[in-house]
Amino acid sequence: MFKLIVKKEFSSAHILHGHPGNCKRMHGHNWLVEAEVQGDNTNEIGMVIDFKDIKNNLKEIISNLDHQFLNDLEPFINENPTAENISKYIYKELSNNINTDNIKVSKIKLWETSNAAVTYTE
Ligand SMILES: [Zn+2]
Repeated sequence: MFKLIVKKEFSSAHILHGHPGNCKRMHGHNWLVEAEVQGDNTNEIGMVIDFKDIKNNLKEIISNLDHQFLNDLEPFINENPTAENISKYIYKELSNNINTDNIKVSKIKLWETSNAAVTYTE
């Protein structure tokens, strides 16, 4: 099996309702997304999927989150925009866009700081 990884950064602000500490106040992060895509077979030119196809899809999804106050966005109206929920959102959206019989989004790793990341898989 092959696993391809693409990285992309974005910046956004959020509030975590119910958080006992500082995260209940508005603050921002420079997030780093690592999207992992897997496939067993390569095509006639030896690729599972062109990195560019993953990058373009990820870019489109992230453009909805970049320089936004995440709590105002539809996916996070009813649930906190935690690293967990953001990584799950990106996983679902990217899966909808690129999964085929041979290609599957296998993991989203979302770095909230350079020292803390969440991984979402199914
Ligand atoms: Zn935060």
